[in-house]
Amino acid sequence: MGDKNIPIKYTQLFIDNEFVDAVSKKNFPYFQPFKRTKADAERAVAAAKSAFSRGSEWRSMDASARGKLINKLADLIQRDIEYLAALETLNNGKPYEDSIFDIQGSIDVFKYYAGYCDKIHGNTIPADGNCFALTRKEPIGVVGQIIPWNYPIAMLVWKWAPALAAGCTIVMKPAEQTPLTALAVAALAREAGFPKGVINVLPGYGPTAGAAVCLHDDVRKVAFTGSTEIGHCILEYSAKSNLKAVSLELGGKSPLVIFDDADVNEAVEIAHNAIFANHGQNCCAGSRTFVQAGVYDEFVKRASQKARDRKVGNPFQPGTEQGPQIDQPSLDKILRMIASGKQEGATLQAGGNRIGTEGYFVEPTVFSDVTDDMIIAKEEIFGPVQTILKFETLDEVIQRANNTKYGLAAGVITKKYQYCDCFCPSRRSRISLTPFGGYKKSGFGKDLGEDALKEYLQTKTISIKVPMKN
Ligand code: NAD
Repeated sequence: MGDKNIPIKYTQLFIDNEFVDAVSKKNFPYFQPFKRTKADAERAVAAAKSAFSRGSEWRSMDASARGKLINKLADLIQRDIEYLAALETLNNGKPYEDSIFDIQGSIDVFKYYAGYCDKIHGNTIPADGNCFALTRKEPIGVVGQIIPWNYPIAMLVWKWAPALAAGCTIVMKPAEQTPLTALAVAALAREAGFPKGVINVLPGYGPTAGAAVCLHDDVRKVAFTGSTEIGHCILEYSAKSNLKAVSLELGGKSPLVIFDDADVNEAVEIAHNAIFANHGQNCCAGSRTFVQAGVYDEFVKRASQKARDRKVGNPFQPGTEQGPQIDQPSLDKILRMIASGKQEGATLQAGGNRIGTEGYFVEPTVFSDVTDDMIIAKEEIFGPVQTILKFETLDEVIQRANNTKYGLAAGVITKKYQYCDCFCPSRRSRISLTPFGGYKKSGFGKDLGEDALKEYLQTKTISIKVPMKN
């Protein structure tokens, strides 16, 4: 798939099953997107509220029919996968093959939740007295969803699928850098037959469009994926408005721990993919590579060579493993982080520079001799920078791995299974089944699995007086 002539069909807002201009009528190139205002958020929330109103088509639709719609959308994405993958790569810069991989996983997520629609039910409860009590699991209502740019389609599907299965209606704000595939998938949702107003997409900036959705009193829940810094704002918006429910999927600084008994080649491979996948722009990247002293030198040598061999370039070129970073601020931050690593005394083993002056390409970079107090060991870099730290004992590494404000993921490479408390899901496993989300400053609430469905449901208790207990 070449990068020329990929038609961009949709660049407006998607509200009530129509592509419409912003109230301000201002249009911007897609990479410096549209100034969306409070008025646009009002329109989108009103459409979602109306679609959720009593007696609406969506509200009165059979649960099984909801499942069929979600399956239909998954099938349409499969039909258009090559176009969507090309658009994703054009907008985000990730290798085309990676876009295909992300979308294939997203189709699976839709299908997983489609099956849940008619299996959402409450309990009967043996209440005291002449009373029959039961619970109903009800959709929470209009939900706001705000996502980042690193996995535009996958993040969208992780949010839409459980919300739609639960019966909610959606106002989504994609990241300002990557609105294109969200709009293209919205058009497919219309084609699948979702009633108008069930899905609305509001491209725009966070402090304007995003904040307006989060502060809206008719929005009953906000599901947010993004930085920890903005996670704090989202909670504030809830407190300042209607105490809407909030779930937060935030940043991470995840440890990958490699013990002496590991096969070093395999460990190098896994650790390389854990940090360099998606150009390091991955919330659960293995961004602190702890290596036990016995294999440390060998590991550093091979990991550095592997980074030097990584193919960086045009993401449409077959074989490219790494394309450009997302934008200038991101590039600047990564280069600042690399400079700080050098300045604080880490040993630069590979990379360390921007590639060329066009685009935002960064050399796959490896630092060894990293210590816990260095900025590169504490802060999220969100770029292709591997930081390798040496450890001696199990107790020491548990303490050091947990010594972070984050708590998103962890990986262990060893043959001693009793060490393995926690594994990151492997890239090849079906992610839809397993809940994903953080502890500590990585947020709360879960995406994926049955847990994500619960994020979009609330429990109503119904007590019915009966003449006689039976
Ligand atoms: P970001 O927080 O700057 O932006 C994320 C989204 O929030 C964007 O859509 C943005 O427009 C919006 N936003 C920004 N300011 C806002 C505001 N004041 N009010 C409402 N919305 C606002 O994050 P980013 O730099 O674009 O994305 C990278 C971050 O996302 C990293 O920290 C990464 O770890 C995190 N992330 C987490 C997960 C996870 O599941 N835990 C997944 C992917 C990315």
